Amino acid sequence: MKLTILGCHSATPSINSNPTAQILEIKNNMFLIDCGEGTQVELRRNKVKFSRIKHVFISHLHGDHYFGLIGLVNTFSLLTRETELHIYAPKGLKEVILLQMKLSASWTKYPLIFHELNSKESELIYEDDKVEVFTIPLKHRIYTNGFLFKEKENERKLDINLVTEANIDKAYFRKLKQGFDVENEDGVLISNKKVTKDPIPSKSYAFCSDTVYNEDIIPIIKDCTVLYHESTFLDKNEALCIPTKHSTAKQAATIAKKANVETLILGHYSTRYNGYEEFKSEAKTVFDNVLLSKDGKTFNFD
Ligand SMILES: [Zn+2]
Ligand SMILES: [Zn+2]
Repeated sequence: MKLTILGCHSATPSINSNPTAQILEIKNNMFLIDCGEGTQVELRRNKVKFSRIKHVFISHLHGDHYFGLIGLVNTFSLLTRETELHIYAPKGLKEVILLQMKLSASWTKYPLIFHELNSKESELIYEDDKVEVFTIPLKHRIYTNGFLFKEKENERKLDINLVTEANIDKAYFRKLKQGFDVENEDGVLISNKKVTKDPIPSKSYAFCSDTVYNEDIIPIIKDCTVLYHESTFLDKNEALCIPTKHSTAKQAATIAKKANVETLILGHYSTRYNGYEEFKSEAKTVFDNVLLSKDGKTFNFD
């Protein structure tokens, strides 16, 4: 599982601070999460192959999370894309994008498929044979979802020496990997546990931005491998969290601790601050394993 931060700042873009966009690579999928202004340029800078992006997840309709989308949709057309593009976003985005396309008479030649979200409960919105994606309802000034990306349980691993010793035909290897007991060549039932090892633990990534401190998300993100939680403010500006419906670094860390996640990544920094080390030190007073996101930074979780 690999996460590339294209932008991790709030509000207006500037030379060294892009609004929110990320690429998550998980089990051969390349998911684009949010698409703030400048995302195309950052995709180029980070050498992401445009054609690999087939699914885009938009958290909410504040401009710093989707103003780059119409540009990207249009560029895909110019690049003569033919493969489907799926967009998962709050209800309303389809109307915005289609109006922009209509007024510029620039329809896509590839299928553009919108999955409009309006549920206030967590729901499964994407699934393939290896990955599931759920929404994480967040509390913000407008309707907002975070997203939980979860690898399905990996297959059990064969111990090839024990399998050979047990005289099991190759035709049964698939069943063994799936956890079944099988009969060997002599008709004896072989217990799965005897010839296989536990699978590699599956990973998960929870993206939570933008949101006020909200413990309701804890059961959804419980025990996840990596949590990206917005930390717009430092402690000294905590009073701003309620009117703006954002969080401090310490609040993000409290959620990480209560949800028992392995790693917390902070981001969505307000551009009022000059450095970000203080976000880390404040969060670390609550939760130890804290990383700072930075535009252009890649995190590997293998
Ligand atoms: Zn934002
Ligand atoms: Zn917002």
